[in-house]
Amino acid sequence: MASFSHLFGASSHRIAEADSVAVIGLGRFGSSLALELVDAGTEVLGIDSDEDIVQSMNGRLTQVVRADSTRREALEQLAVPEFDRVVIAIGDDVQASILTASLLIQMRIPVVWAKAVSEQHGLILEQLGVHHVIYPEKDMGRRVAHLVRGAALDYLEIDRGYALVKTSVPERFRGVTLGQAGIRRGHGVTVAAYRRGSAEWSNADTDTVLHDGDTVLVVGPTRRVEEFAQLR
Ligand code: ATP
Repeated sequence: MASFSHLFGASSHRIAEADSVAVIGLGRFGSSLALELVDAGTEVLGIDSDEDIVQSMNGRLTQVVRADSTRREALEQLAVPEFDRVVIAIGDDVQASILTASLLIQMRIPVVWAKAVSEQHGLILEQLGVHHVIYPEKDMGRRVAHLVRGAALDYLEIDRGYALVKTSVPERFRGVTLGQAGIRRGHGVTVAAYRRGSAEWSNADTDTVLHDGDTVLVVGPTRRVEEFAQLR
């Protein structure tokens, strides 16, 4: 992948690459998302209207620019219309979020993600045509509720009513193959993978024998995986 710096040619315009993302709004959510993208090898253009935030992120993202994303000219000058993927991580200033989303949709950005702070905010973003609306606080609250409730070490809701949990192996299922344990039949969940101590994760199959100290990833209906995580 060519370096991002070549995107700034002699002209003031830059051409975004396929594997690059523009993140607008570098608050707690936007900055951690942008840093994680950089860590994963994606080139990131970060945009924020606050000079202090731009300063603090300088050098940590591929490029960080101070601009007001509600201004079409600013987005055009930064060649945002060339990006395939843009994330709007502005929450509190709902008006700025909506104006930015409206401009990006008009610019026909193929994939726009936006953070919403309320149902109404999310609904407007969806109506504008934003492809993925996310509710970080609400989603994290729901996720933590499941962690607080049960013995799950981690919890991920894949869809409404269907989840994946990371949990320890109940005593009754240790020392026998998964085929013999009949977990799917008896508990309506599937053990997808396991990890022995600090070893790598391995896919589980019917011949897998689990032991004390193993960790498993279990998928199935939310209620069933929660019940499974609570077994001792
Ligand atoms: P978080 O919860 O992610 O920390 P926050 O609630 O603190 O976010 P938000 O109001 O959601 O802050 O804004 C996130 C960032 O978006 C801020 O750093 C803010 O400066 C930036 N921002 C707000 N409006 C604009 C805009 N019009 N153009 C560019 N950046 C903006």
